[in-house]
Amino acid sequence: MNEGEARREEIAANLDDVRKRIGEACAAAGRDASQITLIAVSKTFPPSDVRHLAALGVTDVAENRDQEARPKATETSDLSLTWHFVGQLQTNKARSVAGYADVVQSVDRVKLVGALSSAAVRSERTLRCLVQVSLDEAEDRGGAAPDDVPELADAIAAAEGLELKGVMAVAPLGADSLPAFQRLAEVAAGLRDAHPEADVMSAGMSGDLEQAIACGATHLRIGTALLGGRRAIVR
Ligand SMILES: *Cc1c(COP(=O)(O)O)cnc(C)c1O
Repeated sequence: MNEGEARREEIAANLDDVRKRIGEACAAAGRDASQITLIAVSKTFPPSDVRHLAALGVTDVAENRDQEARPKATETSDLSLTWHFVGQLQTNKARSVAGYADVVQSVDRVKLVGALSSAAVRSERTLRCLVQVSLDEAEDRGGAAPDDVPELADAIAAAEGLELKGVMAVAPLGADSLPAFQRLAEVAAGLRDAHPEADVMSAGMSGDLEQAIACGATHLRIGTALLGGRRAIVR
């Protein structure tokens, strides 16, 4: 077995484990696993891993830095994957991200809505957007305060080139994810009252996908459990 085959087998085994965890969590929550979209977070891993994931049936991939995401998405554009941008986004990067991302999960301020809208219109693409919600006071990790979500959602819904799809959050570091995701579920329900089509709740990572599924997550963002521990450098 060559190196590429060995890596594919490793990722295949990881994917089996993750799918098993999703299945068990869905059974415990009385949900159907078909309601869950698994997004593989490929940051720090090479395009060849994205190819392995696609060959194993993964359809959605996420990255958190534009300078890493753009070349990776370009190199694998033949795979027709859905690309999610999940990192903190500067307005001056909006144009670049609009060139390859299908979904921007980290919309957390009105100024960014304007930048993404112009960028989407200019590149003649439609960007699906999630409002990133901050579930703790540490603002440096991005996200809008729950009270600011309605205004931001209205801005996205009204913006040309953008489609409002729902909410995203990262659980606070070092705390139980369950109460945080319960709070996110409340915010998501409030958003659906005003925008019934916006039914995505992106929550849950390698360490807390069970809690996310219990709280109604529709999209999971899984890195480590699929690809292993992250190295500092992209190969
Ligand atoms: C890296 C990252 C993930 C994946 O985290 P893992 O713990 O490796 O599964 C999910 N969401 C965001 C926003 C990330 O940056």
